[in-house]
Amino acid sequence: MDILKTFIEELIGFLGVGNAWELLQSGDFSVFTTYDGVVSLIYPIIPLLLILEFILGLVYKKPNTKVYKVNFLIYVCNRFIGRFIALAMVTLIIGWLQPFALFQTKMTWYWFIYGYIVWEFGHFLYHYWGHKVRLFWCLHSTHHAPEQMNLSVTHAHFFLEAPYADAIRTTVCILMGVEPVLLFLIMFIDGTYGAFIHVGENMMKDGKMGFLNKIILTPSHHRVHHARNPLYMDTNFCNLLNIWDKVFGTYQEEQDDLVIEYGITRKMNSGNFFDVYFGEFIALFHDIRKAPGIINKCKYLFMPPGWSHTGEHQTAKLVRGSYLQQQLTKE
Ligand SMILES: [Zn+2]
Ligand SMILES: [Zn+2]
Repeated sequence: MDILKTFIEELIGFLGVGNAWELLQSGDFSVFTTYDGVVSLIYPIIPLLLILEFILGLVYKKPNTKVYKVNFLIYVCNRFIGRFIALAMVTLIIGWLQPFALFQTKMTWYWFIYGYIVWEFGHFLYHYWGHKVRLFWCLHSTHHAPEQMNLSVTHAHFFLEAPYADAIRTTVCILMGVEPVLLFLIMFIDGTYGAFIHVGENMMKDGKMGFLNKIILTPSHHRVHHARNPLYMDTNFCNLLNIWDKVFGTYQEEQDDLVIEYGITRKMNSGNFFDVYFGEFIALFHDIRKAPGIINKCKYLFMPPGWSHTGEHQTAKLVRGSYLQQQLTKE
């Protein structure tokens, strides 16, 4: 019976309904107008959408069960370790760095906007380096392995990626004066919206969300980010406000005449948990072993994916650049 109890507890945890259930049992429904009450109702939205999306996939007969299966395994694998390391990392960084903050924000709407812009900058940095530094790409590539988009991709992460991402985002926010309570509020919104942008075509065919596509980052932008088409590679690193993509020139809209091809450029088996989780580490290890001299070996760790000691580079920047060049000469 213990196994059954653990299973039910895990299910409640995954669905995010635990808090709402506790509040419901209190019998006082007015708590749902409080901050805790509202949060408890937002938590279950993404897990429930994920299940609905999977069912819709079954109805349309294209659920791509391979993606759901591997992402479920990853979820189980990360369930304990990853989350706690990330939380410990955030707490440690707040303790260490808060005395060095430039100033302290307060809980007002304008500081909230300031905090969100700073958070997005931290997110941009972590995500950009996740694509441009080979060692960090090993942590991030698990998220890019799925060859179809759906809400289960939200859970596709190598277990050390969250601590790496949170270390950078928290450091930037704390040094720029974002107070911890505001930081946690932003983290919650970012986490929920960051999950939603993985909604698949089975649930939302057009991810552009109308005029919002011009103002914020939509599922359409994030689909572009997950694409391996040359035009789309290494673009749209932001999460909700895409100002930093616009500032740093990595902004790319979805083109109606260019069908998105999801996944990474390395030949791999996206239905194999081991390949999805460790494949890039193994590829890096092989490149380091082949490279002559300690300098070349170190360069493989820190240069962008696709960099080669032979000079035959295949980086995203080069691939995208030559695609754009070709388009120009065609016109
Ligand atoms: Zn990415
Ligand atoms: Zn993503």
